[in-house]
Amino acid sequence: APTEPPLHVVLVCFPGQGHINPFLRLANLLSSHGLRITFVINLSTARQMKSLPQPSPSAGAAAVHFDFFEDGHDEESIKRVPLDQLLTLLEHAGRKALPQMVQNYAEAGNPVSCFVSNPFIPWVSDVASTLDIPCAVLWIQSCASFTTYYHFHNKLAPFPTAEDPERDVVLPGMPLLKHDEVPSFLHPTTPYPFLATSILQQFAHLANVFCVLMETFEELEPEVIRHVSTFCKVKPVGPLWLSARASAGPGDLIQAENDCVGWLDGQLPGSVVYISMGSIVAMTAEQRAEMAHGLLGSGMPFLWVARPTMDEGDDADLGLPEGLEERGKVVRWAPQEEVLGHVAVACFVTHCGWNSTLEAIGAGKPVVAFPQWGDQVTDAKFLEEVFRVGVRMGRGDTWTKLVRREEVERCLREVTVGPRAEEMKENAARWKREAEAAVKAGGSSERNVREFVEEVKKRSVRRKTETAT
Ligand code: UDP
Repeated sequence: APTEPPLHVVLVCFPGQGHINPFLRLANLLSSHGLRITFVINLSTARQMKSLPQPSPSAGAAAVHFDFFEDGHDEESIKRVPLDQLLTLLEHAGRKALPQMVQNYAEAGNPVSCFVSNPFIPWVSDVASTLDIPCAVLWIQSCASFTTYYHFHNKLAPFPTAEDPERDVVLPGMPLLKHDEVPSFLHPTTPYPFLATSILQQFAHLANVFCVLMETFEELEPEVIRHVSTFCKVKPVGPLWLSARASAGPGDLIQAENDCVGWLDGQLPGSVVYISMGSIVAMTAEQRAEMAHGLLGSGMPFLWVARPTMDEGDDADLGLPEGLEERGKVVRWAPQEEVLGHVAVACFVTHCGWNSTLEAIGAGKPVVAFPQWGDQVTDAKFLEEVFRVGVRMGRGDTWTKLVRREEVERCLREVTVGPRAEEMKENAARWKREAEAAVKAGGSSERNVREFVEEVKKRSVRRKTETAT
């Protein structure tokens, strides 16, 4: 009998660094289980990516393949499309392109067994159900954020409103969230209500989805995962970066020549502060100055990922104080996985994007949490009060509120030499062990991945039988 082609899973990715990284990692992970993977993204973003790993000929059919759909932009103009327009543009282009892609794959002998979609492109599950192909979601934020959005969407709990903007939110399996710890897109004062609309659409589409893979692990968020499991088929499979390290950031959208690791090699163990605000947030000039003086005041060497704001423009000078770079290194982009894993790094000043949060947890580094918007404020609460690996710097509307140099310095001291520093370090080291155990053979996340693969297999067999009869 002819050999069956491997199961073919198509991952459709939203063009943001925080989406590309976990999707590439999931692609690698699933392909290591013998699945054929196609990673789909819009063409102009694909052109921005540093180097798309090509499957080696020896990898055979079960490897990661790439496919792109036209979005009518080039790699420069796509960066300037406002987010709300980008969401609509991708939906139009993607709804048109996906069915054709599916047909092409089938004609080439690789029929699609399953789609994996993403919170910002909920329409993928529509396309999948029209084509009668099973669809799963990779939720790339915490389970805590998932349940918060879910409860908001289904009006299952009171949230802050224009009349009562400071209301606390109480949800099952969750610590109480103060109003400024609720994902900011849900807050009545958010300047980005369309982001909430888009993320929440996901929940309107949940019925179309047979499984929600989550970039978290059972030991990290046990109560909330248990509660979410009562209404939704969730499978925590993270930290994906630990189980499927993507070598040298092939999906990096920002490129910068520098030798961060070489520089860290020359620093003492446990001496360096690493500062990064992820791929989107940029500090204002005023905030950069306060950060710079805070770093100088702390006396610690530092590796700082800093870029000008959109308004300042890509080529603007950062205007950092004289003499700063004698004490540390300032770069536009760093290989974050390697940096966090480096022995020289003592702590991480982070904007608390969920990828960065899980990277800190998996690397066992204490944090200074400096959240700005979205789920970052919720992640910061968990880092400080639940995971207990750091302190939160600044509160409230951090977009407009300046965090002063004294506060920067105080936080750095607290996580490195203060009376609670040792405890935070021990907690961080414990989370690293838990994260590693979760992705090892027999660990909770590894088991969930295997169950997912089995489920895809079962559904694929069932569809074949149905088609045959
Ligand atoms: N990242 C990186 N180098 C940098 C800054 C960020 O490799 O200099 C990576 C980081 O490791 C993470 C992703 O970019 O995987 C950012 O995702 P996150 O969810 O933390 O934040 P976002 O960029 O979505 O705000």
